[in-house]
Amino acid sequence: MSLLRNCFHVVTMDEGRVLENVDILIRNGSIETVGSDLPVPEDEPGEILDCSHHVVIPGFVNTHHHFYQTLTRNLPAVQNAELFDWLVHLYEVWKHLDAESVRYSSLLAIGELLKTGCTCTTDHHYLYPAGFSGDLMAIQFEAASLLGMRFAPGRGSMSRSRKDGGLPPDSVVQTESQILADSQRVIETYHDAAEGSMRRIVLAPCSPFSVTRDLMIESARLARQYGVRLHTHLAETKDENDYCLQALGQRPLSVMEDWEFVGEDVSFAHGIHFTDDELDRLAGSGTSIAHCPTSNMRLGSGIARVREMLDRKINVALAVDGSASNDSSDFLGEMRNALLLQRVRCGAAALNVREVFAMGIANGARLLGFDRIGSIKAGWAADLAVFDVGRFEYAGSLSDPQAALIFAGYNHGTQFTIVDGKVVVRDGRLTGVDEDQVAARANEIARGLLR
Ligand code: ZN
Repeated sequence: MSLLRNCFHVVTMDEGRVLENVDILIRNGSIETVGSDLPVPEDEPGEILDCSHHVVIPGFVNTHHHFYQTLTRNLPAVQNAELFDWLVHLYEVWKHLDAESVRYSSLLAIGELLKTGCTCTTDHHYLYPAGFSGDLMAIQFEAASLLGMRFAPGRGSMSRSRKDGGLPPDSVVQTESQILADSQRVIETYHDAAEGSMRRIVLAPCSPFSVTRDLMIESARLARQYGVRLHTHLAETKDENDYCLQALGQRPLSVMEDWEFVGEDVSFAHGIHFTDDELDRLAGSGTSIAHCPTSNMRLGSGIARVREMLDRKINVALAVDGSASNDSSDFLGEMRNALLLQRVRCGAAALNVREVFAMGIANGARLLGFDRIGSIKAGWAADLAVFDVGRFEYAGSLSDPQAALIFAGYNHGTQFTIVDGKVVVRDGRLTGVDEDQVAARANEIARGLLR
């Protein structure tokens, strides 16, 4: 049992309802009751958290990431590079990834997400170096369960290397048969379709410039056979458009339509360079977009047409993207950037706080296919982010406490993050690991990778 006592401001995300000075009672991973002065038996084991200066929201859902990149963020050689040059340089570093670097980068990325209010995430690990041994996804699931994250990783893949006209070197791609066999294995081993599940699998071939046609089609068919979701990068840069036109004879979305890779079960990361007609087709197919504003600014990729997407009822969710192009997993910061960046393009009415909250929470849950997460109401998952707006940096902004999280503040950390009813961040620190030990070891591994 946990009781969030006297919550100052609760954003339920349930038909826009906001509650003040209420208690939230959690039992067995779910929200049991929301109400005033809730009684709890004195002898029941559990804890009571004072939330009298806090905004309580359903946890954010992150829909695109590359955990392994946390060890190669902010590299001077590619601080000012655009996507293709950035990738070509980094493939040469990433080909040295091993089990320990996957473990520590996963701990860093998941830890930062939890500390900034995110309670459910995917990952997109598409890089399987030739010398890598071990079960990569097992290492990631172990990190997620140690920290307490609800986790739906994508089994990423690359099968088109330079010798076949792709962008990555031969040393980091796999054959189609290796990829499909392992995709089937991870679905059968880890995917839990049950309500309240902590583990889902997504199949996620990397992009049109690093994956062969047959692998994209076979991955889509395999995913549909098992009822798991599909994800890839699309329409991120003008270079990608040029590549698709030159190598495949069509623009990126047409390629995906021909390769059976659109639909309600599909999401595209980025989705920047779409025409009006392409946006109409996206809407018609029910395909979701994982919008990554910080990465798009960092790499100078462009500004996604989020306003037009939302007007067409396209499901747009939010994502921090990989940490070599952000270079952090600050989810609340991503919410702020999503709002501000759209306003750069379309003016101050382009996007409001409530829309950004819907993107960061409910739309993400829909993209990843989780039910009963994303609202604070009885019977739903106890996945909550609790921000202390009594802190110095929020003073003067509390006429709208929900919007204060976006417009004000600079330290985007929660006081408490709760996933599946467990407190996984307490007083701003992760409860599952020793943060200082993880940071110190991650720095050593990062230095080793660069050597
Ligand atoms: Zn990405």
